[in-house]
Amino acid sequence: RIVYVNGRYVPYAQAAVHAEDRGFQFGDGIYEVCEVRGGRLIDEARHMQRLARSLGELEIAAPMSAAALGHVMREVIRRNRVKDGLVYLQVTRGAAPREFLFPADTEPTVVCLARPMASAGLDARALEGIAVKSMPDIRWQRCDIKTVMLLPACLAKEAARQDGAREAWFIDADGFVTEGASSNAWIVDAGGAVITRQLSSAILPGVTRATLRDVLEGEGITLTERPFRLDEAYSAREAFITSATQTVMPVVRIDGRPIADGKPGPVAQRLRLNFHQIAAISSA
Ligand code: PLP
Repeated sequence: RIVYVNGRYVPYAQAAVHAEDRGFQFGDGIYEVCEVRGGRLIDEARHMQRLARSLGELEIAAPMSAAALGHVMREVIRRNRVKDGLVYLQVTRGAAPREFLFPADTEPTVVCLARPMASAGLDARALEGIAVKSMPDIRWQRCDIKTVMLLPACLAKEAARQDGAREAWFIDADGFVTEGASSNAWIVDAGGAVITRQLSSAILPGVTRATLRDVLEGEGITLTERPFRLDEAYSAREAFITSATQTVMPVVRIDGRPIADGKPGPVAQRLRLNFHQIAAISSA
């Protein structure tokens, strides 16, 4: 395997960054994960827009243009011969002697790697759906920035796993679902309308979420962007999550309670099937 690190394509075992990298010491960095399908990037422009926004919010200088980053991602995909999988791109503020204040004249650290993953449409898990566990949202108040500061998500997903669940749903202080630990959270109401929380600093503006809005519009399905509580989710007709690596993944159990008949719902399955007809597919 080949990894891109600061301008070089190096073998996996040698892919290292400095011990004083601020990503390592402070979580002072941001990232993107894009789906790769048939060797092509899905929704590249939206991912690049969000990356630029995350960098801007943290006042990290853009290491290169979006086009150049796109070239790096394609090169990593090509060199690793990834057909269906994901590409991970991380930018940190760089390496400097440990000090909270931003260092002057430090070059950002850029890392890009790719790995294969079962193609979304063929993933057996999607046929069965997944279980979710709810947990208090203990994250910070800028969840709209895609930072590498992911310890709350690690803790939540590990606790979910110990309970036999694949994903955690974070619950805010008022009892509303914010989002998944690494996904956006959705439900379908009795009338067939789809509900997901509105964008704010409480959630990540998911690229899959944005594209799914287009899919819903194309399908003539009503979307309501508002917070919902766990009770509403427990008794929803369907539930699902979205993320670049999972597309639309049906949720069949929340906190051990089956959602409807405990099987993936028709809306989630249809959205999953139709997603890639709407998503932007970049040239290889
Ligand atoms: N919310 C959080 C906290 C995430 O970490 C992710 C993706 O990893 C998402 C939502 C989904 O975002 P996207 O659809 O861009 O993958």
